[in-house]
Amino acid sequence: MKVNYHTHTRRCLHANGTEADYADAAMRCGLAELGFSDHAPFPDHDFGWRMTYQELDDYLAAVRAEKQRCAGHLTIYSGLEAEYLPQYKSYYQTLLSQKLDYLVLGEHNYISASGEICSIYNAKSTADFLDYAACLAEGMQTGFFRIIAHPDIMFLRPFAWDSNCTKACKIILDAARAASVILEYNANGIRKGKSSFPDGERYAYPHERFWKMVESTDIPVLAGSDCHQPEQMWDDSMKQAVRTLQSMNVNLTASLK
Ligand SMILES: [Zn+2]
Ligand SMILES: [Zn+2]
Repeated sequence: MKVNYHTHTRRCLHANGTEADYADAAMRCGLAELGFSDHAPFPDHDFGWRMTYQELDDYLAAVRAEKQRCAGHLTIYSGLEAEYLPQYKSYYQTLLSQKLDYLVLGEHNYISASGEICSIYNAKSTADFLDYAACLAEGMQTGFFRIIAHPDIMFLRPFAWDSNCTKACKIILDAARAASVILEYNANGIRKGKSSFPDGERYAYPHERFWKMVESTDIPVLAGSDCHQPEQMWDDSMKQAVRTLQSMNVNLTASLK
């Protein structure tokens, strides 16, 4: 069964295509299930590159309209890709009880041990990965998030693998196992291509060493397109992501539910 639960729309300001364009693409590609997970706005903080909080209801109405239009052909779920930040617990709760089918945890921003909001894109050393992993683990423990998007995104930073990397991965995997969340093998990382890192030519993410560690667990995993263009829905990068997972000794899950 072809499914994708990681889908953006032009509302995030760095993607093209309306909700209808992505639903059409999913039907063209023969998907059974499509989840919309555009970047979540927060009521009182603008992280940038996403819809405004005022636009959230329009987005949800558009997804609802697609659910109806595609009924019988494509099962559609409404979601958001959100960072976990402890001060927003009641916000996630309200989203899930009143508005959404699921939340994807896309931890681009996190809280450091000293309490500041940091971006993983600015991690200064692998020591920061430990704070990052702790915040991600805390997010998983809340039970608000069904899927963890690009759980290995920290490896986009240009550091060689060291013991902090191993430790951070263990924190993430232990939390994922305890919380029964799904880990996503992110096709958008593949889409961006390989580049040169201190530990060799590789994708920024998915990182092979992280996924080797996943192989020794029974944590459910699936591929996520993370499409920002309708034509990326089931493109070569997504196909490669699915093929790679199928070739690995992982617990490939069939569906969100
Ligand atoms: Zn995005
Ligand atoms: Zn995403």
